[in-house]
Amino acid sequence: MARYIFITGGVVSSLGKGLASAALGACLQARGYKVRLRKLDPYLNVDPGTMSPMQHGECYVTDDGAETDLDLGHYERFTGRPANKRDNVTSGRIYSDIIAKERRGDFLGGTVQVIPHVTDAIKAFVLDGNEEVDFVLCEIGGTVGDIEGLPFFEAIRQLGNELPRGEVVYIHLTLMPFIPSAGELKTKPTQHSVKELRSIGIQPDILMVRCDRPIPAAERRKLSLFCNVREGAVIPALDVKSIYDVPVAYHNEGLDDEVLNAFGITGAPAPDLSRWDKISNTIANPEGEVTIAIVGKYVELKDAYKSLIESLVHGGIANNVKVNLEWLEAEVFEKEDPAPWLGEVNGILVPGGFGERGAEGKIAAVTFARERKVPYFGICFGMQMAVVEAARNLAGITQASSSEFGPTSEPVVGLMTEWLKGNALERRAAEGDMGGTMRLGAYPAHLQAGSKIAEIYGSEEISERHRHRYEVNMAYRDTLEAVGLKFAGTSPDGVLPETVEREDHPWFIGVQYHPELKSRPFEPHPLFASFVRAAVEQSRLV
Ligand code: GLN
Repeated sequence: MARYIFITGGVVSSLGKGLASAALGACLQARGYKVRLRKLDPYLNVDPGTMSPMQHGECYVTDDGAETDLDLGHYERFTGRPANKRDNVTSGRIYSDIIAKERRGDFLGGTVQVIPHVTDAIKAFVLDGNEEVDFVLCEIGGTVGDIEGLPFFEAIRQLGNELPRGEVVYIHLTLMPFIPSAGELKTKPTQHSVKELRSIGIQPDILMVRCDRPIPAAERRKLSLFCNVREGAVIPALDVKSIYDVPVAYHNEGLDDEVLNAFGITGAPAPDLSRWDKISNTIANPEGEVTIAIVGKYVELKDAYKSLIESLVHGGIANNVKVNLEWLEAEVFEKEDPAPWLGEVNGILVPGGFGERGAEGKIAAVTFARERKVPYFGICFGMQMAVVEAARNLAGITQASSSEFGPTSEPVVGLMTEWLKGNALERRAAEGDMGGTMRLGAYPAHLQAGSKIAEIYGSEEISERHRHRYEVNMAYRDTLEAVGLKFAGTSPDGVLPETVEREDHPWFIGVQYHPELKSRPFEPHPLFASFVRAAVEQSRLV
């Protein structure tokens, strides 16, 4: 039967709870255990699909088409286990299900309340489908004390009593700040945070304490005493250089040993973390470096491009180089010549995006990459803009545009209202809901034999995750192929374009899907490995 580890946070947000959970998952996995990671998000959106990436960071899409929290990306990258719809839930989802039931009359006239109805729904979510795993790591979003988080904390408190004794462990992640004027590390914020947690009935078994410097024994003792946690279970979680150093760092501080102790598990096999050591070494000792420009729209918040950044790191690992990222706000190129900005970079990437703002700047970046033969990688919106660029500048369709930007006489990119999912036809109306209605999740694609992309994948049949509402219009295919933009990949029925490439260019590829969602440190995605290799080759030319 699965054991449960609940991970909560205190003091401030953004302490890296998701990463800590993923790293603990990796440590347990390295001992041969099967793990599953799940995330409970207290906000009222039904899923993060409708939230701005500037507020909430990237929306991570699973194979089964769920739009989820970006922490699920960390979970996948660290454990290799594909996440699914049942790994992330929000208050919004829980409440909307309960309210739908209430409207149907399922509660038979009873009063519907947070306790027990909401907490029961949360518990049912947490307990569902864990038959195959040894440990379920369940992270609660936000920090203790947030009003909207209370039902989740209450639910995991109840589980502590309802599951067999010794099968639930609570980990609380906090911050120990250093006050420069006093020259001291402070335990008080952690004390208060634990006090808050205990006031709602949860006594943490393990404290993970984020700190920018080593925590002296006296402070550790103090935390142990005031927070009622065993001294050995106060785990310093110090800053590290790369996120891929985290599993080994936390293991060295005793995290997974303490977790096993807390469960009373003795004689567990020692973890084999050698593959993590190898990754850390490769990242710390690159043989060279390249610079990739990311021309996007949400560049102030790096979390908006979390998986993309990691995939480029993985591409660097595959080629033994450090990948420097140059973040460029696309709108800049609407007023300025891109040459001074892009002249020195070894590759240009236009990532996914929504809406018109910055689109013309992205198109200008495509023109630059195409003409100057700089490796170009267009992902989703980045492919759509590459197609609009070719239509306008090579095929002479000056009005070429996307219907995403408003009515157009030349919808080279248009709204998609019908497509096949397996054997079923999916339909959407132009005026329908925004949430959860895109073409989402894994779809197979066929790559033309002999195309560059088929060679990169080493396969003609692939499956990749999608998240888009618009689609390159196949009516323009022949015109665009005549000017060198080859539609190398399509849906298996040939109806939807999936990839484009140029033969007269060292590396120019656009994909309608999001390859960054499937790249992992141990298995860098072939497109990212190949793109970074092309950048390395380009760097030798300049
Ligand atoms: N906005 C575009 C669409 O909906 C691209 C989406 C994306 O880049 N994820 O089709």
